[in-house]
Formats: sequence, C-alpha cells, structure tokens
Amino acid sequence: MGTKSKLLIVVALMLLGLTAATIINVSLNFRDYSIKSAVDKSNLTANIVKDGLTAHMVNGTMDDRQYFLDQISKNEDVKNLWLVRSQNVIKQYGDGFNDETIRDAIDQKVLETGEIVKNITETTDTITLRVTIPYKATTTGTPNCLNCHDVKRGDTLGAISMEFDISGMRNIGMFTILKILGINLIFLVIVLMLINYYVTPYMQLFSNLQDGIKKAHRGDFTHQFTSKVGGDAKKVINQINTLFAKMQETFGDLKYNLETFIPKGCASSNDPLYEAKAIIGELSDIYKFKKTIELDASKNEVYSRITDILKSKFKIEHFAFYEVNNILEERKLVYTHNTESICLGTIVDEDAQLCRAHRTKTDVISTEFENLCKTCNAKEMRYICIPFQINHDASLLISITASTDEDLSRINGEILSIKNYLEAAKPVIESKILMDRLRDTSLRDGMTGLYNRRFLEEFIDKIMSQASRLEERYSVLMLDVDFFKMINDTYGHDVGDKVIVAIAGILKENIRDADLAIRYGGEEFLVMLHNATDEGTLKVAKAIHDSFGKLVFDVGAGEKIQKTMSIGIAKFPTDGDTIWKCIKYADTALYEAKNTGRNKIVEFQADMFKGEDF
Ligand code: GH3
Ligand code: MG
Ligand code: MG
Repeated sequence: MGTKSKLLIVVALMLLGLTAATIINVSLNFRDYSIKSAVDKSNLTANIVKDGLTAHMVNGTMDDRQYFLDQISKNEDVKNLWLVRSQNVIKQYGDGFNDETIRDAIDQKVLETGEIVKNITETTDTITLRVTIPYKATTTGTPNCLNCHDVKRGDTLGAISMEFDISGMRNIGMFTILKILGINLIFLVIVLMLINYYVTPYMQLFSNLQDGIKKAHRGDFTHQFTSKVGGDAKKVINQINTLFAKMQETFGDLKYNLETFIPKGCASSNDPLYEAKAIIGELSDIYKFKKTIELDASKNEVYSRITDILKSKFKIEHFAFYEVNNILEERKLVYTHNTESICLGTIVDEDAQLCRAHRTKTDVISTEFENLCKTCNAKEMRYICIPFQINHDASLLISITASTDEDLSRINGEILSIKNYLEAAKPVIESKILMDRLRDTSLRDGMTGLYNRRFLEEFIDKIMSQASRLEERYSVLMLDVDFFKMINDTYGHDVGDKVIVAIAGILKENIRDADLAIRYGGEEFLVMLHNATDEGTLKVAKAIHDSFGKLVFDVGAGEKIQKTMSIGIAKFPTDGDTIWKCIKYADTALYEAKNTGRNKIVEFQADMFKGEDF
C-alpha cells in the first residue's frame, strides 16, 4: 500500500473515531438530560396533584377530584397517572371511588418505604419513565395533615404514580446524532480531498526521488528530478539535479581517466563509481607489484612473483608458466602448479610454433572450438592459454587448466587483469633479459673486460630505443692512442697490450654504472655517457685524457715512456638523431683531433663531416 493511501486511511480513521466519540458523548448526555427533565416534570406534576388534592380537600370538593386528575393526565407526555391510598387512609376514608389502591410492587414499595422510586422501561419503540412519589403527613404549613388524617407525622398517606413517554427525547437525540454524523462525514470527505490535493505532488516527488536514487545506486546519475511542488522543494530539486549532473560528469571523467592507466579495464560494471573503485584497487595492487619486482635480483624471481599472483590473487589452481625464445622458437617450461605441462610435453620444446597460442598470438580457450589446440595433451580438459610478448626476442605463455566450466568462465573473466600484471612486469622482465645477455662473455673483450663490438652491434639499438622512449641523452666519446703503432714497433706487442689494459682501467674508474665503455677496435675505445651534460661530458673526457697522459709505462731496460690520446665527442640526440650517426660524428671529431695535432679533445661540429648524410 502506498504512503499516500496509508496517510488518507489514518486521517479517515482518526476523524471517524472522533465522530464516534462525539456521538457516544452526545447520546449519553442526551439520555441523562431527557431522564432528568422527565423526573423534574414528574416532581412538578406530583406537587401540582398534591396541592390540587389538598385544595379539593380544604374546599370539600374531594369527590370532584377526578376531573382535576383527568385534566393533568391530558398532558401528552403523561401516559398514566393514578393515586394510591395507604392503609391508614383506606382505614379512615375507605378505598376511594376510583381504584386508588396499590396497583403494583412499586406502589407497594413506595408506601412501605416512603421513598421515591424512578424506573425506566425501554423497548425498541418507546421509553417510559415511571415515577412514584410518596405523600407524607406534615404538620407544618396549612393545612396540617394531622387535622384530617388519623396518622402520625411523617407517615405515608399515599403516593402518586406517573408514567411519562420520553421517546420524543430519544428521537430528537437520534436526529441530532444523525446531523453530527452527516456534518462530520462531509468534513471528512473535504479533509481527505484537501490532503489528497496537497499531498499528491509530494508523493509524486517522493516516488521520482526513489527512482532517481535507485538508478544512482546502479551508478547511473542521468536521472532528471521533476516536481509540481514549488518553493523550497523546487530549490532542493534543482540542487539535486545539479549535484547529479556533476556526479555523472565527474565519475565519467574519473572512470575514463583511470582507464588510461589500465587500458584493459578490470571492472565490468556499468557503475562508474564501482568501476573507479575497482580500477584504483587494481592500480594500487599493480603499483605495489611493480615496485616489488623492480627490486628483484633476477628474472626468475620476477617469474616467481607472477606465479604467486596467479595462485593467490587469481586463485588459479592448475597452470604451467613458459618462457619462449622468439628467435630460436624454443619454449621453456619455467613453473608448473598442480599440473603437468598440458601440451608438447618436455621441459624445453624445440618448436614453439606448435603452440597455437604462441603462434597466433591470441588467447586460446578450449570452449571456443572442439580440440582447438592440436598439440594439447588434455583433450577432455578445459584450458585457457594466454600468450604475452615481452619484446621481439622473448614471450611468455601461461597455460591454465580448469576443473569445472564455472572455474573456466571465472578465469576467462580474469584474463584482462592477468595481462595488466604481465604488462606491468614487461619492462622489468625486458631489462632482466637484457642484463642476462650483457653478462654473456661472448659480448666482452677478453683482454680488458670491456664490452666488445659485437655487444654494440647487438644491443645498441635496443638500448637506444629505450633511450628515445624515455627521452634520455648519450654523449659518445671516441678515444684513440696517438702513435700507438710505434709502441708495438719499438717495444713489442706486450707493451702495447699493457697500454690497452691501462686505458681500460682508466675508463672504468671514470665512468658510472649507467655509462658504457666498449673496446671498439685495437686501441680505439667508445665511451657512452648516459644523460651527461655538456660540461659533465667534457669533464669526464678531460679526466680520461689527463689520467692517461700521466701514466708512465715501464718498457724495460730502465726506459719509461708516456703516451697521449685524442678524443672526439658527439652527442645524442643533439648532433645526430641515431646512435650510429653519433658514433660516426664522434669518429669524425677524433679524425679532426688527429689532423690538428693530436693529444686533444675535439667536440663535433656539423661542418667537420664531409661525407654524405645517412
Ligand atoms: P694514430 O695516432 O694515427 O692513431 O696512429 P697509430 O699509430 O695509433 O695508428 P693506428 O691507431 O691506426 O694504429 C693501430 C695499431 O694498433 C695497429 C695494430 O697493430 C695495433 N693493435 C691493434 N690491436 C692490438 C692489440 O690487441 N695489441 C697490440 N699490442 N696492438 C694492437
Ligand atoms: Mg692510434
Ligand atoms: Mg687506432
């Protein structure tokens, strides 16, 4: 039942209750009043009769009293009127000529007790008031009763019994009650109509508010509140509408902006507030995950974090985690949890192309097609295989099996979130792979321990693509010993080698971890200073140059020599937009140094390069 109906029923019940109470009150008062006025009338009549009879008695016309009594009985309210003689009077004067003897028990009782008796008899048609009043012998006043009656003072001489019809009073009461009822009903109808008129717009507003709030609960703040109510209610409605418009815009923007942090949304609700909360929760988890893995020492530690997340956050019971070498097309099983590898079958699979997920670079879900993956060992099983590319050289693959359809569908719903974690781990894994490769001895020069030219050719593009992405700078220094050949020629190769090893030592001392030192050729070195300023670059170049110049080499037989070097400098990206151009320009600057007297540091200028642009 609606609130409005309840309100109307309550008001109607209250007014009806009030009407009933009024009617009961009026009817009781009316009854009391009717009886009281009838009793007063009976007392008056009794006194008139008494005085009349006394007058008859005094005048000696007692025998004519019937006429007098008949006149009184003609009063329309007096139904019956009769006199009753007491035994004393009967004994002295006889029965009287008009049956003035006891007619009923009431007459008897009044004569015996000398007390007035009032009695009401009600039928559906009439109400009769019976009053019997005793006459007592008195000695005061005129005449003295004892003069005529042979009785004592206070004895009951007789009684007058009267019956009054007081039905008319009841009828008047009923009519009054009907009038009250009618007036109250009209009042009730008017009150209900007024309440209905004034309450209906508020009830409509109330229901409109309920609809809007229900929608808002689902995250939809587009509801426009309307109302026929004016005044303050109108103001409140306008304020709510403004608030809702603001919420809709804010939550929409919030959700849109948050989605830029997690490109593949983690929440699938239409409620922007819920989605924002879910995205922020996911972002926070991913941020913590990323911060943790950034400090992990090895790639395997990062992999173990990913498997922990799969187990604890995504509650995946059975899965296998693979790393794929995209160059060799070799797939290596890294970790299994509660399952055998469900496909191919060995720890290292030599043809990763057999894996459908890896080959197609799309998620493979067993429910999409019967026997979807032909190499899958588990024909009857439910599985989801998620490929994820780290870079050109490496990919990951997560192969998950589910025990029930519900579990499979749950995991399917988590794929985007799992990929968000893999996306966060990608740069860390990429740098770990790079670091592993850098430790590879084939990339280092055996004599000096510095990186060799192969390293440069293999990795410089990767390093530089990251540098471009992060807007990093590199200063390229090309170093070459002046007249080195002479050392070999004069003192032998061993001395030459010593000089080369000494240069490597100087380079290691003067560069930081983020810088790179490469033995580029025989006694030619390449140094790449990471994010160095122009001043800093010159400072490092000078330090290397001067340190080397001060070195004294013992060439045997007590003879000592000192050597100098020339350095050419070019900067990425200010001098050249690729690292290869910068290496070439650094070499050009070195050539300039050699041609202009050696033992100096020359910074590249555009006019030094005479070759063709590349
Ligand atoms: P310039 O000032 O023009 O550089 O004159 P240079 O004599 O230093 O000429 P250049 O740089 O061309 O000389 C390179 C020589 O370095 C040639 C080669 O015999 C020698 N060399 C190359 N590798 C090694 C090595 O590993 N050990 C030794 N001892 N000598 C090497
Ligand atoms: Mg040289
Ligand atoms: Mg040289």
